[in-house]
Amino acid sequence: MYFRILQDEASGAVSYLLADLDTRECALVDPRGADVSLLKAMLHEHKLHLSLLLRTHDHDALLPGEAAALDALAALRIQHPCSVEPNAPGAGTSALVFGNELLRVMPTPGHTAGCVSYLWRDRLFCGDLLSVDACPHQPRPAKPEAMWDSATRQVFALPGETLLFCSHATQGRVVSNVLEQRRWHPWFGGGTRDAFLARVRAPFAEANAFSSPPSAPSVHTS
Ligand SMILES: [Zn+2]
Repeated sequence: MYFRILQDEASGAVSYLLADLDTRECALVDPRGADVSLLKAMLHEHKLHLSLLLRTHDHDALLPGEAAALDALAALRIQHPCSVEPNAPGAGTSALVFGNELLRVMPTPGHTAGCVSYLWRDRLFCGDLLSVDACPHQPRPAKPEAMWDSATRQVFALPGETLLFCSHATQGRVVSNVLEQRRWHPWFGGGTRDAFLARVRAPFAEANAFSSPPSAPSVHTS
């Protein structure tokens, strides 16, 4: 097994490479269109075949050309189970395979309506649903109610030692675990659904007055 974290320091965006070194099959989670040349070179260097291009979500409406750029990686693209072509490999199932490795797809809407997370071994790639110690870089999630339910009923129901890898770094941090975030996440840990929703709907400055650490209130596109 080969696992690599790819972080763009300028934007904080994070992608992940998961590889089965026995079969040389691999998967990419949330690759960036801007990194396609780099990713191709890396796959070539390690003699890996890209089987799955996995996106937890997208902001393609704000990033024209992103989807087309990723097409150059020529892999089966999975984003939301409903978006998979009916006859495509992996369609109609919540499990995906690359090489001898198994991934489970978990619908985790909230940040965007169609967000999914991917569970692989002891780690969950949860995109921008739940960044380390922060409500991820967004003044307003697309579906706040679903976001609370996804975090508290889906993610926090996983074993405490499950590692959580997000797609946007918070002050350089990209990984935490379920136990830590279940207890201490400043938005989801120990509070109530109603309190969370009231806070999300409050004016942004007020909502973040007790957020730790604060996130930049800029438009988030990763
Ligand atoms: Zn996002």
